[in-house]
Amino acid sequence: MSLAGVWLTLAAAAPLAGSAAADPDVEYVVRLAVVRGAPEVRVRAEGLRVLDADVRDVLLRGADQELSLRPEGEGIRVSGVRHRPAGVLLASRGPIRVDGRSLVGELEVSLEKGRGLLVVNRLPLERYLEGLLGAEMSSSWPLEALKAQAVAARTYFLHRRLEREAEPFDLSATTLDQVYKGIGQEAARTRQAVEATRGEVLTWGNLPAETLFHACCGGRTRAASAAFGQDVPYLREVDDPDCQACPQRVWSVSLPLERLAERLAARGELRGAIAEVRAAPGGELVVVPAQGGRLQLSPRRLRQLVGAATIPGDDFTWSREGQALELRGRGRGHGVGLCQWGARGMAERGLGYRDILARFYPGLSLRSLF
Ligand SMILES: [Zn+2]
Repeated sequence: MSLAGVWLTLAAAAPLAGSAAADPDVEYVVRLAVVRGAPEVRVRAEGLRVLDADVRDVLLRGADQELSLRPEGEGIRVSGVRHRPAGVLLASRGPIRVDGRSLVGELEVSLEKGRGLLVVNRLPLERYLEGLLGAEMSSSWPLEALKAQAVAARTYFLHRRLEREAEPFDLSATTLDQVYKGIGQEAARTRQAVEATRGEVLTWGNLPAETLFHACCGGRTRAASAAFGQDVPYLREVDDPDCQACPQRVWSVSLPLERLAERLAARGELRGAIAEVRAAPGGELVVVPAQGGRLQLSPRRLRQLVGAATIPGDDFTWSREGQALELRGRGRGHGVGLCQWGARGMAERGLGYRDILARFYPGLSLRSLF
């Protein structure tokens, strides 16, 4: 398949209504879930317009005060509006503040069954990437590292979009996908990194690759098969001597059993005190509560339940020391794909973004999509 074929595959997989033109700002729009499961959303913008998402009737025009949106029955109650639409669009010429975060583009608010409000921000891909770089890395990082991250994030979005065509959004604005904190994170250097790599993506078999990335690998990245039990040919173990400066290159954490029991109870996984923790095949842990039963967890699942603020990465060994588990690990995040601190180290040594991408995604081709 030719490059034009790639473009057609991507475009056919998620066409946008009325966007026959090949303008990338129209063709590549990110649907980003910025709020999920909220009982209330507060929005404010200069001259904010509120529209019924179905029929596009304007419900409120030029509202300058803060508006409150809440689920009510099968609809959404907007302060000052009698009608209860099933979904609303929010639009403004300037940024829209949602729960304190500044966003650009169009916002759609809808009900997620039994979960509260879902807010999806639609914005052009390149604009999204500018904000993302400041949140995923820092605008003070070397340009070549930011450029590598821009290509990885652009490619990751296109990959996810193909998978989530039937879903209400492509990405969520958290570490589940890619961190995005709004337009406050943009800076001249992040714009420069996006512009310098405009339209560049990494492909595998003529499709955008699953270009995962993480904060720091601790010296060697992990294969997708080891981290997620799924073999991806270009997500394999590679040596990375360049993330020495990462604060969590190696780490140890003491996790009291009492705190582990609290966290597991809070997440609805088990009740009561923990009697024992045993090792299981494949590096898994078996937690045995005093009142009986058992809970088997992978290190990754344990980190998700306890929280990334306590356990930095998925790659660790553990031992029982008295009434605590001693965790010894390396790296921050899942350890698969591009290592952000490694990219920074390589850029500081004078290497370019192509060298960085070639190390962390062996076998992929760098191509211009637009
Ligand atoms: Zn690394």
